Amino acid sequence: MAATQKLACFRLPPLPTIKEIIKLYNLRAEKQLSQNFLLDMRLTDKIVRQAGNLKDAHVCEVGPGPGGLTRSILKAGAADVLVVEKDTRFIPGLQLLSEAAPGKMRIAHGDILTYRLERGFPAHIAQTWEDVPPNLHIIGNLPFSVSTPLIIKWLEQMSNRTGCFMFGRTRLTLTFQKEVAERLTASTGSRQRSRLSVMAQYLCTVKNCFTIPGCAFVPKPNVDVGVVHFTPLAQPQIQQPFKLVERIVKNTFQFRRKHCRRGLEMLFPESRRQELTEELLRSADVDPTLRPTEISISEFRALANAYSKLCEENQGLIDYDFREELKLRHQAKRQLENNRKGLNL
Ligand code: SAM
Repeated sequence: MAATQKLACFRLPPLPTIKEIIKLYNLRAEKQLSQNFLLDMRLTDKIVRQAGNLKDAHVCEVGPGPGGLTRSILKAGAADVLVVEKDTRFIPGLQLLSEAAPGKMRIAHGDILTYRLERGFPAHIAQTWEDVPPNLHIIGNLPFSVSTPLIIKWLEQMSNRTGCFMFGRTRLTLTFQKEVAERLTASTGSRQRSRLSVMAQYLCTVKNCFTIPGCAFVPKPNVDVGVVHFTPLAQPQIQQPFKLVERIVKNTFQFRRKHCRRGLEMLFPESRRQELTEELLRSADVDPTLRPTEISISEFRALANAYSKLCEENQGLIDYDFREELKLRHQAKRQLENNRKGLNL
């Protein structure tokens, strides 16, 4: 009850329902853009509640579509809502909503994957990183094909404090395919533990808030949807460049069912693979027989620190890519075979 009262901060004038807006502007969902709309305002209100108190907040809503979630954000008392929508068909319906909430809503036609969010909000709302989060929120119900690359991009920006993180520890409330939401929040040792779990959890507090059944969307997707909330940590659990951490985590998880040693070996050129892998594991004090899913964030921190030291001591190591080495070896082999064939002719 208290939460409902908190949401009712701003009353929109009577408007056509979202279903009517869809009809009015002929907004048939585009399969190619994976458009699935939420028409139930109780659900959009519930998503918005996960973001926290939006009173007087600045909000960027990604992919507003016909505007159901946007209405809930406005009702929650946000002072400034910037909506970024890729599909121009939704703009007239969003304009109608913007007229109903004068001075509170800005509409940008664009792709959120390239949109410069750092230019979207006034500098005075910024907080220092260690301070409380700014009154700026990112909220969105995006297609799954966009939300996963987007969260990876935002995690990198979080680690570099760029993009919307120039304003401080901006909080995110986003939807994902249920399995991805579970991976994002999976703890050490769990079946769903993956690259995404480590990359998200070393930088943020991640909460899998609730699941929305697929049948709540129009049209119905084949999967259920998880709402996930991210709060960037004042002190990231690993203090190394994002790309370096990503390299360690990606290599570790590439042989998911094997001992972690197997994936970590591939960080090093074949000529020194055994020696450097042993040094890495010894100096990080990590058990080489752990499975990737069993490695904790503090063990990843130790691995990242040890790997960074090895890169400082071994010029060019940071740029080593085992796929390149394999490719060159195959090319050389093919060349040798061709030469042999040539000699036989
Ligand atoms: N927010 C609405 C809702 O909950 O009913 C619509 C959700 S629908 C799953 C996703 C929306 O994101 C669509 O309106 C689609 O056009 C938009 N969209 C897809 N890719 C986008 C992108 N790269 N940048 C901005 N908007 C995008």
